[in-house]
Amino acid sequence: MKGAYLPGNSTVIFRDTAIPKPGHGQVLVKMKASTICGSDIRAIYREHLGKGPEAYQGVIAGHEPCGQVVEEGPGIRRFKKGSRVIVYHISGCGVCHDCRMGYMISCSSEHRAAYGWQRDGGMAEYLLADEKDLVLLPDELTYTDGAQIACGFGTVYEALEKISVSGDDAVLVVGLGPVGLAALMLARAMGARQLIGVELKQDRIDLAKTLGLADVVIPPGPDALEQIRAVTGGRGPEKAVDTSGNDQGRALAIKAARQWGKIALVGEGGTVGFNPSPDIIHPQKSVYGSWVTSIWRMEDLVEHLVRWNIHPDILVTHRFPLEKADEAYRLMASGDCGKVAVCFDEELTGQ
Ligand SMILES: [Zn+2]
Ligand SMILES: [Zn+2]
Repeated sequence: MKGAYLPGNSTVIFRDTAIPKPGHGQVLVKMKASTICGSDIRAIYREHLGKGPEAYQGVIAGHEPCGQVVEEGPGIRRFKKGSRVIVYHISGCGVCHDCRMGYMISCSSEHRAAYGWQRDGGMAEYLLADEKDLVLLPDELTYTDGAQIACGFGTVYEALEKISVSGDDAVLVVGLGPVGLAALMLARAMGARQLIGVELKQDRIDLAKTLGLADVVIPPGPDALEQIRAVTGGRGPEKAVDTSGNDQGRALAIKAARQWGKIALVGEGGTVGFNPSPDIIHPQKSVYGSWVTSIWRMEDLVEHLVRWNIHPDILVTHRFPLEKADEAYRLMASGDCGKVAVCFDEELTGQ
């Protein structure tokens, strides 16, 4: 089978390997959709960040995999041949405290391996997955919906739950890349009435507006804080999420949230500067860090997406076959797009 690898230096190479055989507790998944995440670009495609066990290990890329089980290994308990599945993209040891809480992302064991980083990921025709890492994808959702749940939408849902977004809230989202757009979409579904985005790139502003995800989009810059206050009665939004990972973007989210407001930081890398007394202590604000999600919360998200009748795949602006994965990564790295997906079979046309 063909698989795509990321040697760094903004390149993609293809290699042919044997179709893997599922061992005990494992299944073989026929890939249907595999979306590209901002962290693939930041930490693998451009250059290999991360050291030791956190480094990319030269495996098949892709940590947002979704497909169908085509072969069961021995000892499978719940999923079956034919099951449509999302792969929670970190395979934890299963027995440390964080794994027992379902947060395999923060597993600290040497046995932890993320798909597309330390073990083969979804940019191939087939993926070998551990059954414990699977989330059932209901028929109401598409495989491309599922691929986005595997990382981006799961991550956003966790952050919005941490800051308890509800119908009481105006929500500010700084950075309208795919994760920011997902934050607007889920915040609306969770009841938020006023959604404010901050974004510079015109394609992304247009996408947020065309899809009706943001009520107002403000350009970053020295006036952004004043403009956010102006549209929220001078007080700022109750909740703010930074997905930009940009120093100023983060500071804006923290400063713009109103007194008693809650802020979630999701975008990675960089730093942030703010003045603790006037910016968070005196105004009684809470800042939350949020990293991916737990597998139980991912199952809840899947159930809620069906109930809300919304589809993450509306954020996908470009679909490529596996053979054109190099074009897909290049486009995602340019930022002139919404979400970019590598798709297989019927999923390629999005019908
Ligand atoms: Zn990701
Ligand atoms: Zn663990």
